[in-house]
Amino acid sequence: MSTQPTLELQDRVAVVTGGSRGIGQAIARRLAEAGATVVIGDLNEPSDPVGHRSISCAHLDVAAEDSVETFIAQVVATHGNLDIVVNNAGIMFEEPVVGHSTDRWARALAVNLTGPFLMVKHASEHLAARQGTIVNLGSIEGYACNPNHAAYAATKGGIHGLTKALAVDLGPMGIRCNAVAPGWIDTELNASYVDSHPEREKIVEALARLHPVGRIGDPADVANVVAWLASPRSGFVTGQVITIDGGRTARPSLPDVLW
Ligand code: NDP
Repeated sequence: MSTQPTLELQDRVAVVTGGSRGIGQAIARRLAEAGATVVIGDLNEPSDPVGHRSISCAHLDVAAEDSVETFIAQVVATHGNLDIVVNNAGIMFEEPVVGHSTDRWARALAVNLTGPFLMVKHASEHLAARQGTIVNLGSIEGYACNPNHAAYAATKGGIHGLTKALAVDLGPMGIRCNAVAPGWIDTELNASYVDSHPEREKIVEALARLHPVGRIGDPADVANVVAWLASPRSGFVTGQVITIDGGRTARPSLPDVLW
């Protein structure tokens, strides 16, 4: 008689914000493969929620508190529990800091930083009942900043700080909170940089050379670490920001001629 192996996230319920594409979609898939029931919350609800029977999708605007409250309540009403919150939804745009639009600044904060705060505010009571975990999407731009990314970098630095604050405040309730700080990952978020460039192939090659591992990241590279942070295997890890960048930030830049 064959017995099915118990999957790592069996009987866990996870929510992934902004999971209808890119990194969030890869995370949703990875968590589902590990046995979790996953609900994607996104502005767009794809008709085929990522092609896995344990993944469903519901409307969510992380920047609107009533939307967050309704989303969390619906997940708990439908699935009975909530164990894992992945705060992945994020936006990025280029704008010089001088003359920066105040509306766009406010929108970046609302989606990238207030959104995760609202999710945790409404989910923590449920997470506490289940020794739950939170994983936030930070960025290497929370450590250092590309030109014209003031709003984005400020929100990602904020996420790194919020992650530590949540680990400290929610630890006594049995909730762990960590973040990942991805480097350049191949998604729609940054594809426009590459695609709009007349010498696209040169850019792709130059980007790969920035990384000691010789390539840019894939959404699955991030999803694998998020799944570990969401699982009991990382049970003594909290308040950490784990960099996933193929070694890019481990190497200080040198003039091209020297290497
Ligand atoms: P994408 O732009 O590909 O996907 C982001 C998703 O979030 C989209 O589905 C988007 O919906 C959704 N979203 C945006 N605003 C909201 C909102 N208010 N409420 C709910 N959902 C929303 O991004 P990535 O997959 O590349 O990035 C995911 C996360 O990883 C982000 O937090 C990003 O900052 C971070 N990150 C990404 C890196 C990269 O190189 N790609 C590097 C470092 C960090 P819609 O389609 O409607 O906009």
